[in-house]
This record gives sequence, C-alpha cells and structure tokens, in this order.
Amino acid sequence: MLESVKASIGDHLLLKLKGGLEIRGTLMPRYGYADDRHITIKLGNGYNIGILVSRIEGVTVEKRGTFEPSKPSEASFKSGGEVLILGTGGTIASRIDYRTGAVTSVLTPSELYSSVPELGDIAKLDTEVLFNILSENMTPSRWDEMAKRVGRAVKDGYRGIVIAHGTDTMHYTSAALSFALENLPVPVVLVGAQRSSDRPSSDAATNLLGAVTVAAMADFSGVYIAMHKGLSDDVIAVHSGVKVRKNHTSRRDAFQSVNSRPAALVHLKGLRIIKNLELPPRRDGHQDFSVKSNFDERAFLVKYFPGMSGEIIDHLVEIGYRAIILEGTGLGHVGKPLHESIGSAIDKGVFIGMTSQCLWGRVRMTVYDTGRDLLRMGVIPLEDILPEVAVVKAMWLLGQGATFEDMVKLMPMNMRGEVSGRSLISYEHGRT
Ligand code: ASP
Repeated sequence: MLESVKASIGDHLLLKLKGGLEIRGTLMPRYGYADDRHITIKLGNGYNIGILVSRIEGVTVEKRGTFEPSKPSEASFKSGGEVLILGTGGTIASRIDYRTGAVTSVLTPSELYSSVPELGDIAKLDTEVLFNILSENMTPSRWDEMAKRVGRAVKDGYRGIVIAHGTDTMHYTSAALSFALENLPVPVVLVGAQRSSDRPSSDAATNLLGAVTVAAMADFSGVYIAMHKGLSDDVIAVHSGVKVRKNHTSRRDAFQSVNSRPAALVHLKGLRIIKNLELPPRRDGHQDFSVKSNFDERAFLVKYFPGMSGEIIDHLVEIGYRAIILEGTGLGHVGKPLHESIGSAIDKGVFIGMTSQCLWGRVRMTVYDTGRDLLRMGVIPLEDILPEVAVVKAMWLLGQGATFEDMVKLMPMNMRGEVSGRSLISYEHGRT
C-alpha cells in the first residue's frame, strides 16, 4: 500500500480508515521487533500511534519529507560558565532507537542544552561527559571519580554543578556524594528523567530547568536530587541527597523525600525557589571544603524475610565483609534463626546496623524482646536512616579507615542530614 503511493519514512500522509476516520501524520520507522500488521504515524502533537494496516482504506502522500532520528545539533560553548553540567548517562541522556525500540543513551549534555535553550537564560553553562552508562551499572569507584570531578569544579569556582544521571540508582549516588563532599560550599544537583527526551511526555527538560535553577540561583549548598514533584510540569521538588528514594518504577514524580520534606521546590513559571527546610546549609558558608571520596565495598545490605537463614550472614563474614546493614521488619527485627549468626559476626568485629523495610518512621528496638536481644548482641539501631543510605555510609566510613568502634559511634550519628532530628507526623507516608 505504501509502495503504491511511493511513501517513504518521513513523508506526511493522509490516511483514510474504514469507518470514515482520517488521520494525518508523519510516517515513522518501525521498531525492528515490531510486527508487520501496523504502521507507526507521528501525529502533529508529537505522539506516535500504531495503526492496523487492515483498517486503512487509502493513503495519500501530502508532503514529501525525510526522517532524521532526533539528534539536536551541538551547542557551542565558551568555557568559564557559571554552572557545570556533568553527564553520566541514563534516560535523561537518551532517546528511542527506532531500530530496536529500546532506549539508548546517546545525548551529550551539550546536545541536551541545545534542546532546552531556556537553560541559557538561567546561567552560562559548561558541559562535560563523565560517563555514558545506565545507572544500574554505577559503581563506588565511579562515585569516587564523580566526587573528585565535582571537587575540582568547586575549586574552579563554578556556582553550582548539575549531574545528569540515570534514575534507578540516583539516590545511592546522591548519598555517596553527600558523604564524600564535606562542607560543600555550592549546590550539587543530580537530575534524571523517567521518559527520554524525544517523547512528548518527557520530563527531561523541566527537570533540567529545575536543577540548573537551583545550581545557579539557590542560596543554599549541599547535594540534592531535582525531579518532578507531581504529575504536572510546573513544580520540581529538590530533595536532600540523603533523605530521598525512587519509589515508583515509571511515574515522573517517582522520587520522594522520606521522613523529611523536600528541601525546596522550584516553580518553573517565573523560576521561583521556595525553601522548605528551616536551616539548609548556606551557599559559600564553608571555608574548609574537602573531598573524601574513598569507598570500601565490603559493606552489604540484607533484606530480611520470613524463612531467611543465618547462613547468609555467616557467608558474608567468611568472604570478608566488614559491615552488614540489615533491612529488618517493623521497628527493627529479624527472626530468631538469624540471631546466632549475627552474634558471632559481631564477635568477629563485623559491624551490624539495623534499618527498617518500612522506610517511613524510626527504628526502635526496645519495644519487643527480639529487638532487645539484638541490641544486647551489639546490633546498632540506625534511627531513620534509609537502608540504601546506610549501606553507602558504611562503605564511605570504611573507606575513610573507620574501625569497628568508629562504625558503632558514627553510623547512627547524623553527619550529613541522614538522621532526622525528630519524626514529624506530617512527613509520614509521603504526605509532604
Ligand atoms: N535504567 C535507567 C537508569 O537508571 C533508568 C533511568 O535513567 O531513568 O539509568
């Protein structure tokens, strides 16, 4: 049918469907794995739709065109900008590969910049690709590299640094950078996207606008994650890097502050920053900035479930782990069959800390016998620290040379805002 009118990819078509419906749009390439019973048309509003070929009664080519996969041109940059955007990969730097239908990571930060020209109104930007990976492939040695790069950028005098990152493990990286960057004098803002930037529903541009606004204009410093606050496109939530979690697989507001309010909100209309926290660290307020970026990977996160045996703990000790973070039930418990292994791990000098798989609320191990038994053995309750943050903190402390005694003292102590001073009812269950 398409050949008979010599239609090719990129042509603007008028399709007459059975029942009288007419559809106008651009003929798109079909994914390599797609069936041959549909054609794909990009509508004027940017959405792609598939149309069953058997429903089509007539095709007319209204205008010839060509299809270039959306690859914006590189913007040209002068160095010496105010905000540095570092690219590490993920959906925010991706677009659909029409050959496979999968999302591939291809955009450089400068391409991103040229596709969101409003960024230029907020600050002069420099960009650099640090890695190009999906964040499930992030590693502690890459956190180390990232922290060192941020450290150099701070010393070079940037007003703020934005890190474009895959969303899956963005909250681990934000925790790692929060610990590694001590007395940070400027904002470092991680930003991602749940939908790639060539989709009409993409959140890449708006999240990036929010992140660059904070990096350039906020009067506070620290490590943050900037992502959609809700489903609409007008407010970006700025979460503290140690109180945040990806809590949904696909929604654009997947990131939530847990046991805390977002530190600030960016209202994109008028680019206003509304601060939420009483005392966020002041920008430029620190004289003694230092990068402490070493991470020791011998820390492990164990999620307890009914039926788990102690063997896993024995094995971790045997293969040399030096810290185990338990993600226990409720107020901070694990079943009796694990207790003996936990006791013997602590006797051997392995740090064991307790967090809760409830996520919201604090660990309190004095309420039930099981909790008291674990406390007696030397398990350390980690207040309301998120399990992911706790394991990153353990890697960081070990990387800084912490002994068992140091771990016992420092793991439950608030170092970067990871322990909330008090648990307010209004923070609970994401009602922020
Ligand atoms: N798997 C991707 C990543 O974390 C998802 C994303 O970027 O949103 O890199």
